[in-house]
Amino acid sequence: MVEEQLLPRGIEDPAVLHAMEVVPRHLFVSDALHAQAYGDFPLPIGNGQTISQPYVVALMTQLLQLTGQEKVLEIGTGCGYQSAILAALCERVYTVERLKPLLARARKTFDRLQIYNIMSKVADGTEGWPEHAPFPAIIVTAAGPQIPQPLVDQLADPGVMVLPVADLEGQTLMVVKKEGGAVTITPVESVRFVKLVGTHGWKAA
Ligand code: SAH
Repeated sequence: MVEEQLLPRGIEDPAVLHAMEVVPRHLFVSDALHAQAYGDFPLPIGNGQTISQPYVVALMTQLLQLTGQEKVLEIGTGCGYQSAILAALCERVYTVERLKPLLARARKTFDRLQIYNIMSKVADGTEGWPEHAPFPAIIVTAAGPQIPQPLVDQLADPGVMVLPVADLEGQTLMVVKKEGGAVTITPVESVRFVKLVGTHGWKAA
């Protein structure tokens, strides 16, 4: 996975590559999908949701430029794979998932892997997690129609947020940086994520 999918596409942060090598991705998907867990594609994780392909997880993580010291806010825990990668690269992960059964399963996997620096809750992540703000790094793993304002407000200064945003043509991965009070938004590349559903995302169907 690292040699064929990540290195050739520009994932070069040694810490990110190491985390991708050691976190057992197959333990985050159902037994029936174990054989496909390291393939170059997203996989279903139940409740109509998906785990991103390895390259997208690595790219988003690399864009956060983590030092190991920070607390990271993640919106969209899903199966918890991205959370586990982050947990290996920062001090503490605060992750929010709107679907209770998914978070329950992710928590079991964290326990099984003895990962203890992930705090989690079931809630609408488009509201962020104000009690623990500000966050020097924020990652959103579902795409809404705009950048949720509470997340911009809860981003530390300096801080970096990585998230997909939907537009007419599809979705674009964006890097939002806050520095000296100024917020800059840089598009990175086209991506495909499930919907971010919430007050500052899409309305629930
Ligand atoms: N990072 C995850 C990706 C899961 S897919 C992984 O590694 O598996 C995105 C997740 O975002 C889904 O589980 C979906 O339920 C969740 N989600 C969508 N809208 C949300 C919201 N407003 N708040 C929290 N989670 C949300």
